[in-house]
Amino acid sequence: MPTEALPYTCTFCGCLCDDLEIRAEGGRVVEAVGACGRERPYLIGIETTPGPPPPCRLDGVETTAEEAVRAAARILADAKAPLVVGLGRATNEAARQAIALADRIGAAIEVGDAASAWPRVVAMQRSGSIGATLGEVKARADVVVFWGCDPATTHPRHFERYSRVGRDGRRAIVLDAGETATSRLADAFLAVDPERELDLLLTLRALVREVPLDPHRVEAATGHGLAALQDLAETLQGARYGAWFMGASAGRGSIELAEARRQAVTALVRDLARKTRFVSIGLGEAGNAHGVEGVLAWQTGFTPGADLGAGFPESWPGESSASDRLARGLFDAALVVGGPAPAIPVGKPWIFLGDADDEASARATAALPAGAPGIDDSGTFTRVDGVSLPVRALRPSRTPGAAEWLARLNEALGGATS
Ligand code: SF4
Repeated sequence: MPTEALPYTCTFCGCLCDDLEIRAEGGRVVEAVGACGRERPYLIGIETTPGPPPPCRLDGVETTAEEAVRAAARILADAKAPLVVGLGRATNEAARQAIALADRIGAAIEVGDAASAWPRVVAMQRSGSIGATLGEVKARADVVVFWGCDPATTHPRHFERYSRVGRDGRRAIVLDAGETATSRLADAFLAVDPERELDLLLTLRALVREVPLDPHRVEAATGHGLAALQDLAETLQGARYGAWFMGASAGRGSIELAEARRQAVTALVRDLARKTRFVSIGLGEAGNAHGVEGVLAWQTGFTPGADLGAGFPESWPGESSASDRLARGLFDAALVVGGPAPAIPVGKPWIFLGDADDEASARATAALPAGAPGIDDSGTFTRVDGVSLPVRALRPSRTPGAAEWLARLNEALGGATS
């Protein structure tokens, strides 16, 4: 049996490595060239010939696709306060259909994990950000900072593909609550008390701005001596090109302070950029939350959530966002695109659009089985630096992808399908 080779983009973490090659033999993946140790065991052995298509379900009972789409469209058409949630692993094409549907039915729509997304987006709206492509960082950075994140564990090829830690003489600095795999590979490590992280960031900023500081007060506020922080500030502003990487939840402290920490980093990087070239970039999450957030911003002007219930987009994070309304039960129907599906109170009809083997398929009022991007479905994902990449299916699809199901729902609701 000849070996087939297929170019492949991995979506398992925010690196979105697009240089993999999948080799298949005898209907199975036998090699994943370029895959890291996290992804390779997942890919090896995947069947590349499609099995029988999984069924649609209504209240857990198998039904036809036509009947399921009709029932799902009825639920959405009858709803007065619907929600559209999930979407963290959806393609940009599926996101566009989901937003068109939310607009048609007047839903509040929100992408992925609101707890980490809202502080990040609100901080960016208030303070802006200085970014770059990962390619530019790879080519130019001589100092890289990893703040509250551990890419050596979570993004195994980040060093090799983007941050180039240990190569080209670049200096890596880790600020984190404790030692990690990344800190053990870095040139410098500063242990940060999560409760005093904001004070530390503000102190670093003051040092970069050359504000005179009292050593005793600095030590009391940050847990570090002034000399050590001065050294760190010197290293940062002495960079020819610095890149500050951070994880999704903005450091290790409480989520309530995440927005303030984000803004403190933005302000620090902005002050560093007045003296040298300095940028800040997220590590990126698995899936495509970043891409879907971008499509939502492009279509509605808001992200990571918008309320389309008034006939025009509004955004009230913490008040009437989809996650707030979900938590308070202030909705009468929901469409969940991809797992894991949230707990939906009994009596509220909801539609699950995702993996037929997900437990949500049995729980949902209507379940439409959608192929996973990168396995059964193709489309576009957007990397955390804004670069869009094609994601290809590994095998012919057994079922429509989310974009196609959403287009069918839009059509059943009387909307356009393109
Ligand atoms: S680093 Fe991330 S995107 Fe790249 S192969 Fe590993 S899991 Fe996949």
